[in-house]
Amino acid sequence: MTTRLYENPIFLEHLTPPGHPERPDRLRALNVALEHPNFAPLDRRQAPQANEDAILLAHPEEHLFAVMRQIPEEEGEIRQIEADTYASPKSLQSALTAIGGAMAAVDDVMTGDVSNAFIAARPPGHHAEKATAMGFCYFNSIAIAARHAQRKHGAERVAIVDWDVHHGNGTQDIFWNDPSVLFCSTHQMPLFPGTGKRDETGIKNNIVNAPLSANVGSDHFREAFKSRVLTALNDFSPDLILISAGFDAHHRDPLAQINLVGEDFDWATGRLMEVADKFAGNRVVSLLEGGYDLEGLAESAGFHIMRLMKG
Ligand code: ZN
Repeated sequence: MTTRLYENPIFLEHLTPPGHPERPDRLRALNVALEHPNFAPLDRRQAPQANEDAILLAHPEEHLFAVMRQIPEEEGEIRQIEADTYASPKSLQSALTAIGGAMAAVDDVMTGDVSNAFIAARPPGHHAEKATAMGFCYFNSIAIAARHAQRKHGAERVAIVDWDVHHGNGTQDIFWNDPSVLFCSTHQMPLFPGTGKRDETGIKNNIVNAPLSANVGSDHFREAFKSRVLTALNDFSPDLILISAGFDAHHRDPLAQINLVGEDFDWATGRLMEVADKFAGNRVVSLLEGGYDLEGLAESAGFHIMRLMKG
């Protein structure tokens, strides 16, 4: 089956200040990796821009308005909207296109057009809580994609697996009281944003956190993934698996101290595809979150996408 990849040049126009880790070069590095002939079979599409209404699937209207008010108008201006979150004139458009790509990918897998898809987008989204932009994120694209799968396609049980090295506090916040969504996260702890302890379980054990200590590598990650994430997924039997695919647990990443290698993302992807084969008609949608070392990101995302293509 074909793997679809959503991209859009607008993602290069969301600008952050010099030296900021979440920068357009991340996608440029990924694009260079995707030039390899192995990726030629990818079905590459332009991500569509979502309507602003889509944001209301996971956020109150006030949050949308608050973000809109902070987007600068003057070309070249980069405004700090929160501790480490910045906006440039095209940032809203870029965020809406990340959401539009994720929603289109959900449509694709729910209608059986393709079995899986990857969205190479920025800004990321998993730190955005219901009413809070933070950690480079304005809106929680993966949460919006999950709600879209439920509202438009009748998905009953959506699983979100977040292997970004930072805890997906925003996704946890949005689904804390919603047992129709299982949220599983592996992440370094302690580390930004500070949440993600094992005893944070949601209203009906629908939140599964697997914190990892600094300096651990593949063995600890795989053990936590098997014992916590895969066990929970098998109990939940999802209709659809969404992946918050951050690649900052790679050993080269400057923002964290977990020592994964590219092959670990191949392995984790393969395990999730097995679960999707068992319960979810192979449906997997993966959305880029973090990953701040250009080489580590390109290598890891390459392994991940290549495994999706073998599905
Ligand atoms: Zn991260």
